[in-house]
Amino acid sequence: MSPCDFCSSSGARWLYVPQDRATVALMTDNGVVNPIPNDGRWRACDLCSDLVDTDDMENLVARCLIGARIAGAPVPEGGPLLEHMAMVVMANFATVLAGRPTKERL
Ligand SMILES: [Zn+2]
Repeated sequence: MSPCDFCSSSGARWLYVPQDRATVALMTDNGVVNPIPNDGRWRACDLCSDLVDTDDMENLVARCLIGARIAGAPVPEGGPLLEHMAMVVMANFATVLAGRPTKERL
């Protein structure tokens, strides 16, 4: 099964396809903005899909950071570095959602 693009867990079942592709971009940790690959299509598992659909950005970001930590990424437990990572993740998700994505079954 495909991995979820939000939390990195396997088992993505939904695909978000942006309608406004020009507005979709990704920001790296260094603040560099790049166009998102795959035309900004994001795969989501059931849980992340629920968070996206209810606009629960706070829990979506928390889930993404926990997923990254489980996957072996150096995610700090707290402090300014974690806040910075959360901000970058939130900016990326907000940018994706600004593309008014439609939701499809994978
Ligand atoms: Zn997920």
